[in-house]
Amino acid sequence: GIKMQNAAAGECVKVVVRCRPLFGKEIREARNQIVDCDVRRGEVRIANPKTPEDPPKQFTFDGVYDHTSTQKEIFEGCALPIVRAAIEGYNGTIFCYGQTGTGKTHTMEGKDEPENERGLIPNTFETVFGDIDALESANKNFLVRASFLEIYNEEVRDLLGKDQTRRCDLKEDPDKGVYVKDLTTFVVKSVAEIRKLHEVGKKNRSVGATLMNADSSRSHSIFTVTIETSEVNEGEPAEDAHIRVGKLNMVDLAGSERQAKTGSTGDRLKEATKINLSLSALGNVISALVDGKSSHIPYRDSKLTRLLQDSLGGNTKTVMIANLGPADYNFDETMSTLRYANRAK
Ligand code: ADP
Ligand code: MG
Repeated sequence: GIKMQNAAAGECVKVVVRCRPLFGKEIREARNQIVDCDVRRGEVRIANPKTPEDPPKQFTFDGVYDHTSTQKEIFEGCALPIVRAAIEGYNGTIFCYGQTGTGKTHTMEGKDEPENERGLIPNTFETVFGDIDALESANKNFLVRASFLEIYNEEVRDLLGKDQTRRCDLKEDPDKGVYVKDLTTFVVKSVAEIRKLHEVGKKNRSVGATLMNADSSRSHSIFTVTIETSEVNEGEPAEDAHIRVGKLNMVDLAGSERQAKTGSTGDRLKEATKINLSLSALGNVISALVDGKSSHIPYRDSKLTRLLQDSLGGNTKTVMIANLGPADYNFDETMSTLRYANRAK
């Protein structure tokens, strides 16, 4: 029944927090650090700079990564189990959530060089092809596919397509579920090939943003790797092959900052409302999954949650990484990120 499924799903959603170090500018301005991470206990404490006499607020998560955490630690702790499950045929999703400037893209992508600065996406590429090399045999074949898209203003754009201004439609099919019509999908054979696609998509993203006078911190990007395994039992004919498909979504969410503060009006305000719509719809879906008692999961409320429907809940694994900055002037946004993450856990 639905309840059982949701109970299982609840255990498959993990929420962790990563707090970045102070920036150069924040150090020069001698900003106070108000976030205290207790990595061992999985706790975050935050002090309100306006009421320093009050005790700090405390939150507990499935994992806490402080300013000394490395890209490798994050990858191994948060992504590796989901990547391995995807290779075994299960769907999974990794999100980075947080205010602009807190390290979502650093966590997802990082820097190409040195190698230890690479983020979750390039590390995933290495693991997928490394594991496949080790697992492939005469009876077992793998096929890896990749796609990359962006949701801006509740419109989907294909980051690997030819036309960066084309809007893609979401379609629903009884077999395929929800999918993006005509989304460009490439079969990839190596780390080098998939990295190249990722690079092309990142370039297209900024070209598209310029063409449309848009700001990529206001869009959600989803890099999807699909791994299909075809396995033939000893002595059976090839046409009896067992096919399994696992899908892994790596999502760099739009900045969670409230737009009202920046005095948006007109189109910018409409856009802001839509960003907040996807983020709040995602929060509602995850909290319904975690809660396990709701019989209705509100996937249909946004493009983001509709698209990820088959990779959130049910037999899937999800990790939400809430990125934070440690400085006093971000208190309100940091509190709002902690509350959002706390509700998702
Ligand atoms: P976002 O994508 O959330 O807007 P970025 O990933 O672009 O944020 O990070 C903002 C800046 O902070 C970048 O210069 C990035 O290199 C730096 N940064 C973020 N997280 C870390 C970290 N954990 N360690 C060192 N630098 C970081
Ligand atoms: Mg970013």
